Amino acid sequence: MEVFTGPIAQGAEILAARERRGRYLKKELRRGAPLLCLTLNIPGPQKRGPDVLRVHDVARRRVQAAFPQAIPCAVFVDAAGPFALWRLLMDGTEAKRRAISLEQADALGRLMDLDVLEGEGPLSRSAVGAPPRPCFLCAKDARICRRLGTHSPEAIQAHLEAIVRSVLQR
Ligand SMILES: [Zn+2]
Repeated sequence: MEVFTGPIAQGAEILAARERRGRYLKKELRRGAPLLCLTLNIPGPQKRGPDVLRVHDVARRRVQAAFPQAIPCAVFVDAAGPFALWRLLMDGTEAKRRAISLEQADALGRLMDLDVLEGEGPLSRSAVGAPPRPCFLCAKDARICRRLGTHSPEAIQAHLEAIVRSVLQR
């Protein structure tokens, strides 16, 4: 597996990449909203190994199929991992609901982080009446598992590799 391979990013590098993305998104938001942003949930410092990039490609095609009118704005890879952005020609709330159903559809969806942005930033799940995102290991609230460290890094890695293998059909 090549999930946890690739360049090792330092925490500061990841942080800097996220700040750069934030500035870029703000600029794009001023040019028109809503926006749809796709990233992957890959823990740890190796966020751009070959398999991660392959999975992002598959996910990007799936998003484009689910939002056929969405206009691609950018695709790039930085220390925080692969990133794709579209401009939407639809209502933000409806887009967020569609994004959530994609995230929940299957194993690939659980790796996808789909944000719909308008106004000040991303729409929350609660803003569209959806429950918090479930943990991909135990289905409880993912934020709680993260905060409590419910799952060992090894368990998370093993599960992630299994998902990636199924997505890439190996
Ligand atoms: Zn959990």
